[in-house]
Amino acid sequence: MKQIYTYGNYLKDKFACKVYKVGINISGFTCPNIDGTVAKGGCTFCENDSFSASTNEIKELKGFYLNLDSKENPFLQKQLEQLEIQFNAISKRQKDVYGAEKFLVYFQ
Ligand code: SF4
Repeated sequence: MKQIYTYGNYLKDKFACKVYKVGINISGFTCPNIDGTVAKGGCTFCENDSFSASTNEIKELKGFYLNLDSKENPFLQKQLEQLEIQFNAISKRQKDVYGAEKFLVYFQ
């Protein structure tokens, strides 16, 4: 039987512990499969709210979308703050529940 060397196993070998994924999303960004550019409704397995941290600071900009034609983003500072809040909330939960020590951030 051939074994598969997964990315998770690679990270575990490299860092000598399990590396936990921290999925974060940026308010104002969307997906062409959700916003109607290509399709509407998104993929059936993609329900961002179900795996995103939920705090009042994060909820504040939900439903807001960037104008792709604009050269400036007046919400950048708030979005950066949200990323930090999301990372801190999710990584804390993973630390508390699973004893996680190392994290890999990825954008939803
Ligand atoms: S998984 Fe979600 S973000 Fe990715 S293409 Fe599908 S709807 Fe868009």
